[in-house]
Amino acid sequence: MSRRRPILTKDNVPIAKLTTFQNKGTIPHVVVIESESDLAQIHTVKKPYFILGKGSNTVIDPHGRYNTILQVSPSYQAPVANGTEVHVGAGVSVKSFLDFSVASGLSGLEFAAGVPASIGGMTVMNFGCWGSDMAEFVDRVQVWTADKGCHWLNHTEMDYAYRSSSIQHTPDTLVLSVVLQLRTEQSDTIRERIHRYIKERSAKQPIRDKTFGSTFKNPSGHFAAALIESVGLKGVSFGGVQISERHANFLVNTGDASFEDIQNCLRTAKEKVKETHGIDLESEVKFAS
Ligand SMILES: Cc1cc2nc3c(=O)[nH]c(=O)nc-3n(C[C@H](O)[C@H](O)[C@H](O)COP(=O)(O)OP(=O)(O)OC[C@H]3O[C@@H](n4cnc5c(N)ncnc54)[C@H](O)[C@@H]3O)c2cc1C
Repeated sequence: MSRRRPILTKDNVPIAKLTTFQNKGTIPHVVVIESESDLAQIHTVKKPYFILGKGSNTVIDPHGRYNTILQVSPSYQAPVANGTEVHVGAGVSVKSFLDFSVASGLSGLEFAAGVPASIGGMTVMNFGCWGSDMAEFVDRVQVWTADKGCHWLNHTEMDYAYRSSSIQHTPDTLVLSVVLQLRTEQSDTIRERIHRYIKERSAKQPIRDKTFGSTFKNPSGHFAAALIESVGLKGVSFGGVQISERHANFLVNTGDASFEDIQNCLRTAKEKVKETHGIDLESEVKFAS
């Protein structure tokens, strides 16, 4: 009698392998959804679990309440085009997706070039820059929830706003795949745009360092980086965490950052900006804590 393959589980995984910030510590279990048949076993995963993409905007507390991280494998759904519509799995990286874009002559997501994110994380966060965001391209999203199982959310149900989507308010909703509406374009033009964006990004941001991108959302009418710089925190260190000398809304792990170092740094930045400008900074980075 054939038995179902057990869901892929890795034990004692260093946070350094899960997030781009790579703070100290390990996570007891990481469960990876590789195919639709694995969904029938999700109920066996002990709660609470935290759903993670490539961890480029998430900080994990090794002593927090999450013993398990749940991820969608990059192999769950490779990008497939039907005209200008592309169906792509949540676990696919920006780099792989842009290789597909160039090969198929379908453009749209080049604005994310150089960022170590996944399609699923970008869909949930409404990733954006250079005047574009994911909301412009997402047609529908395939999700799994405990009560409804696998189903699709249309663009309106995603309720997109600045760095926000409905899924951020329903934390146990797992994004499995996304259908994007792209544009046809010459492969050379797409390739040239990717190179240009990577060059511009690396001139402004510490993208080669251990960082999680923007720490705080830009408050209406302000830039978080300028506010943090104005209170004298640019370049200041908190243990193994430094407020980047290149971009004050980026934190850098200078070697052995702990979760507590990150907390101290964020608390100080929020307090100083509130004291000086009366503005409440809201975190863009997510916490698995
Ligand atoms: C160098 C650098 C530059 C960056 N530049 C930008 C930028 O220009 N613009 C911008 O918007 N962001 C930027 N970021 C931040 C980050 O890349 C984005 O927020 C991105 O969307 C996160 O994708 P991820 O796969 O890493 O998500 P993660 O950090 O893993 O997760 C982010 C959130 O999404 C949820 N999530 C992830 N995958 C799923 C899934 N499959 N199902 C359900 N929920 C899920 C997580 O629970 C979490 O709440 C940058 C980050 C870095 C390191």
